[in-house]
Amino acid sequence: MNSSQIPNPKSQAPLALILFGSPGSGKGTQSKLLAKALGIPQISTGDMLREHVRRGNAVGTKVEAKMKAGILVKDYVVNQLVEERLAQPDAANGFILDGYPRTRAQAEVLCGILSPRGVQAVVIHLVVDYNVIIARLTGRRQCPVCGTLYNVTSKPPKVPGVCDLEGAKLIVRDDDREEVIRERLDEYEKQTRPLIDFFRETGNRLYEIDASHDNPQAVFGKIEELIRES
Ligand code: AMP
Repeated sequence: MNSSQIPNPKSQAPLALILFGSPGSGKGTQSKLLAKALGIPQISTGDMLREHVRRGNAVGTKVEAKMKAGILVKDYVVNQLVEERLAQPDAANGFILDGYPRTRAQAEVLCGILSPRGVQAVVIHLVVDYNVIIARLTGRRQCPVCGTLYNVTSKPPKVPGVCDLEGAKLIVRDDDREEVIRERLDEYEKQTRPLIDFFRETGNRLYEIDASHDNPQAVFGKIEELIRES
């Protein structure tokens, strides 16, 4: 274990962390930091789906149009991807879910996977002001080669519009266009936010973290503290 790693929490059961929050709340960034610190995998359904689209396979063809439009893809598609991913050996000691579950049907499937393993999820809800979310999503740029994310105001590249690592011209992700952002936020409000009640009803530990103004390292510090205490 290196010095940046978080010691195991008190519980001996594998840690199932759910990073929960609206698009643009920082789930992806925090999941990556946590995966490194805890030595457990980040499981992002968005990344998995984008990889299928990139490969142009059957799953990719099925989901591409919905993703471009900012609409949630069918539950059975993501449930199957997650079930297969959680069965991989590297998830046996814990994992971080980033962008899943997003509907009640997905949350029920997840409970069905975790209960027999004796695992109860720890849900971290990243709470961010609406205006901050809009600024983050509209300012987001990505390197088409290495996937590194930038933001024109909060995390600009050294040369505007160019990736620091690859020198490639940065792009706006299809689903970061303004009309699509609106659709994604709408889906979140209608289908995903109500899961907070589901997590409470089912007795999962749910922590809310104000992630509006802090920089990613400060938010990470708050999550780290919670995990140590849980
Ligand atoms: P993300 O990168 O997590 O914002 O996801 C990008 C897009 O992938 C979403 O707008 C959805 O179209 C799709 N997606 C990702 N995760 C899920 C999920 N758990 N359920 C349904 N659709 C998802």
